[in-house]
Amino acid sequence: MDIMRLFLFEDCERNCKGCCNKDWNIKNLPYAQDFEKYDVILLTGGEPMLKPWVVTDVVRHLREHCCTNQLIYMYTAKVTDMMIYHILELIDGITVTLHDKSDIKSFSSFNEKLLKDRHYYLTKSLRLNIFNEVGRLPCKDLSLWKIKDKIKWIKKAPLPDNETFMRWI
Ligand code: SF4
Repeated sequence: MDIMRLFLFEDCERNCKGCCNKDWNIKNLPYAQDFEKYDVILLTGGEPMLKPWVVTDVVRHLREHCCTNQLIYMYTAKVTDMMIYHILELIDGITVTLHDKSDIKSFSSFNEKLLKDRHYYLTKSLRLNIFNEVGRLPCKDLSLWKIKDKIKWIKKAPLPDNETFMRWI
């Protein structure tokens, strides 16, 4: 499966010590032009959900002009109602990363809202990455999620062989 990791913008309200963007010369990333050869477009930032209007514009453009068959996923650490009511309708899945304990409350509330419409969200790819610092989640039901937990920061983590990193024009 060939994946394009598509960098939207650099803005992020966190300043994670191990942020992989610090390992990249983001400004020198090539601009994405040919999407057809990829199976998956993986939206990333920065924090895409800081500018949800950019996400919706990019996804609509991709769906209309570039990506007829590709799956579109998004990396995020910011779960909001906007994600539930607008973004998740447009894309095929999300990977949510919980960085520390301060993320627990908003994620728990988000998860409860998804569970109310469980059958719809079972059609989406929902992945949950949990850093070691988060500890145990109090959520009773995490069955919607494919979970990777006890994650640690990896310095200069290489891009997987099947991924290409490019930026949105
Ligand atoms: S949330 Fe992600 S993009 Fe933002 S600083 Fe942390 S690792 Fe980097």
